[in-house]
Amino acid sequence: MAEVIHIPARHAGSVRLSKGDRVSIIDIAGHQGADCFAIAPDGISTSSPQETRARLGRLFPKIGQSIYSDAGVPFLTLTSDTSPGPHGLLVPPCDPTMYRLRGAGLAHDSCFDNLHRTLARHGIRLGHTPISICLFQNLTLLQTGEVQIGLNQSRPGDRVVFRAEAELVFVVSACPNDVFKRPPLQPTDLMLEIER
Ligand SMILES: [Zn+2]
Repeated sequence: MAEVIHIPARHAGSVRLSKGDRVSIIDIAGHQGADCFAIAPDGISTSSPQETRARLGRLFPKIGQSIYSDAGVPFLTLTSDTSPGPHGLLVPPCDPTMYRLRGAGLAHDSCFDNLHRTLARHGIRLGHTPISICLFQNLTLLQTGEVQIGLNQSRPGDRVVFRAEAELVFVVSACPNDVFKRPPLQPTDLMLEIER
């Protein structure tokens, strides 16, 4: 039986993974972003979208390719994806400054706070914030050099599956961004399924 973790909208969930474990990230209602991070349990290395892009020469792994750590070690291998994509490996998690600058106030939930608060519960304190593995993010690079981020195209029940390639703390934030989304789309819940 798969272990199930429900992540309420605007919050984060986490799970400790061992090498070979498989984790599914499921967009329950569709159109929701999942900001994912994989951290070594000692907090020394993290998933690194920039290292991954450089190694693969792509904006996101294909099935069978890996997300690398900042030490150049495979952390997660993409094994399945039912969503239409795309996904993003380009932008940092949303943070309190971004929301304040966009007029959303000083107390808006953010993937930044979700990440660091969740890691604290695992006894990990990072001195930096990794770029997100932004599942379901509808990010396109235009030939003009612009980065275009549109409404996520994921459908209800779409899932992305990773295999852990190391001992990891895996954190997923159900992105609380309601600034870029057109009403009535609001942040919704995610689910994790873990097979060991
Ligand atoms: Zn976010």
